[in-house]
Amino acid sequence: MGDFDDLLAANREYAEDFDMAGFDGIAHAGIAIITCMDSRLAPLAMVGLRPGDAKIFRNPGGRVTEQALEALVLGAHLLNVDRILVVPHTRCAMTASTQQELRDQIGESAGVDADWQFFSVVEDQLAALEEDVQRVRTHPLIPKSVLVGGFMYDVDTGLLDQKF
Ligand SMILES: [Zn+2]
Repeated sequence: MGDFDDLLAANREYAEDFDMAGFDGIAHAGIAIITCMDSRLAPLAMVGLRPGDAKIFRNPGGRVTEQALEALVLGAHLLNVDRILVVPHTRCAMTASTQQELRDQIGESAGVDADWQFFSVVEDQLAALEEDVQRVRTHPLIPKSVLVGGFMYDVDTGLLDQKF
């Protein structure tokens, strides 16, 4: 106990002005964003949205994984989503190393073998993005009326560039 006191103190301040009590969990702007866990990305702010507007799913690399698809299917049918943005970014750590390099690096840091751990490394970001956008567009449970775009986010300019 006590390890999170700074954050809990900040949370009490946050709750003082909290005005989302009773607010529903749908995406009010109809947006879902799949993006990377990278701390340089602010998924809502980068497209002018606020809490309540969008469903956000993040993972290393911003990939359309099975679980991302699960989120999108739920979003499209139950949570008002009608536009989906898939957003990897420049200088992503998942593009900087191979699977084995990451396993070696993590294994050394952990002091135990990490060769069993899967890391979703990306060799060719554009090819991966095209494939990911296709996975969403062709998913049998995601309606054709849902618009899907693949964008590259530049961590040095803050700009999004639509690729697919
Ligand atoms: Zn990243």
